[in-house]
Formats: sequence, C-alpha cells, structure tokens
Amino acid sequence: MSSILVSNDDGITGPGLLPLKQALGAVGEVTVIVPDRQRSASGHAKTMHKPLRIQEINLADGSSAYSSTGAPSDCVALAVLGFLPTMPDLVISGINLGANVGHDITYSGTLAAAFEGTISGIPSIAASLDTYEDGDFTYAARFVARLARELLTRGLPKNVLLNVNVPNVPQREISGVEITRLGRRLYRDQLIKRKDPRGRDYYWIGGERPSGRADDEGTDIWALASNYVSITPIQLDMTDYGFVEGLRAWDVVRGAASAERSQG
Ligand code: MN
Repeated sequence: MSSILVSNDDGITGPGLLPLKQALGAVGEVTVIVPDRQRSASGHAKTMHKPLRIQEINLADGSSAYSSTGAPSDCVALAVLGFLPTMPDLVISGINLGANVGHDITYSGTLAAAFEGTISGIPSIAASLDTYEDGDFTYAARFVARLARELLTRGLPKNVLLNVNVPNVPQREISGVEITRLGRRLYRDQLIKRKDPRGRDYYWIGGERPSGRADDEGTDIWALASNYVSITPIQLDMTDYGFVEGLRAWDVVRGAASAERSQG
C-alpha cells in the first residue's frame, strides 16, 4: 500500500485537513504532520536556529496525527529526513482554506510544503479551496483523492508539482477540470499604522482580499471564476530561458572581464 504524507499551512484546526485525510484513506496509508498553529503565507521556510518539537495529537475523528512547531515546509522536511520510518510515496498539502493562484504560490505555506516534497524527490500536490469562509471540502477532498490515485500510477516529471484549486460549489455545479497556467493576482494590501497601548507605532499589513484577472482565459483564476477545477503543473526551475540571451548583452556582463583587468 502506498504511503501518503499530508501536511498543510492552516494547522491542526484547518477545516480542510480532516476531509482530505479521510478521503485519502481509500488510496493509501496516510500520515499527517501539520503545523501546531495557523501558518498561512509563511512561504518556504527552513527552521535552522531553534529546535523543532513534534507532538502526537488526535484529529476530530479520533485518528492520530502529528503537530510540529515548524513551518509547513519543516513538517515535510521532518518527515522525509527520518521522522517517518520510510519515505512517503506522495506528499499532499492542504486542503487550504483559500485559493492559491497566480503569485500566491510564492507566499503560500501550502505550496511550500509541496515544494519541499518535490525537492526531496517525492511527487507532490498542493490543494486549495476557493473560499475564505464556510468551505465545503467534500467534493474537493474526493477529487484530490482521485487525482492522488492516478498520480501514484503515472508519476510526475522530476521537479514538477501539481497545484490544484477547487471552486467552492456543490459537485453538480462543477464545470469540469482545466489544466491552467498561473494567472495575474491583484493584491489590495494596505499598510495600517496604529499605536500600541504604550504609545508606540505598530504596522499591520491589511486591506481587502486579493482579486484577480478573471477574463484571462486559460489561467487558474479564470478557471475558478468559471467553476472549473484548476490544475497547474508548477516547475521548480524558475529560470527565465527567454531572457538569458538578452541579459548576456548587458554592458556589465560583456565588459566584466576588461573592467576587472583595469581595476586590478
Ligand atoms: Mn492557509
């Protein structure tokens, strides 16, 4: 039986954790290691300067799981570096409360946990539900379980993970599944400045939830807006090959050797 490692960035109380874990029960042997608190938008962290603790806990259905003091990526690193007796066959991160589309993937702890799996050579999925409240994870969990089953048979290219976003609608309203590219998020962050009880300034990055360009056909944002499940293949190699030649033409690159000589 395949072994599946589940993590997330919403922590042990994340509403998408238990539905995912339960749906995956039919696919493989599931181990859950998640942050002990909310760690959304924590990015791809590696805790190096303080110890990590792991605690055995029970999820709401009584099943056993582990929580760690680390970031989502730490949870996966702990598992693959030896906390688990064997390497998992598959890492699934989620299901996140809130879509992870466009540039979100650089902030997302959900994606970071999946990236960590990918870096360790394990096929990985990041899964998110497109709502920030009152999520119904039933369909999303079933879909991710079906995807996981097929992935275990087919495998994935090296250094590629699947970023899955599911609309928050009943199954009968799902239009289908689209393979997408990353869309353009529109962030509406605002810097809030206030005074603390001691009279000192503090800052809070607030503002409205991000929106996005829903009219850009073929993107993850467009797919969700049209009630499609979005699957984006994401590669770890972020090199912009199209710009390599253009950058070679920069004076600082072309003149580097002679500039070094004249300074020496
Ligand atoms: Mn989250």
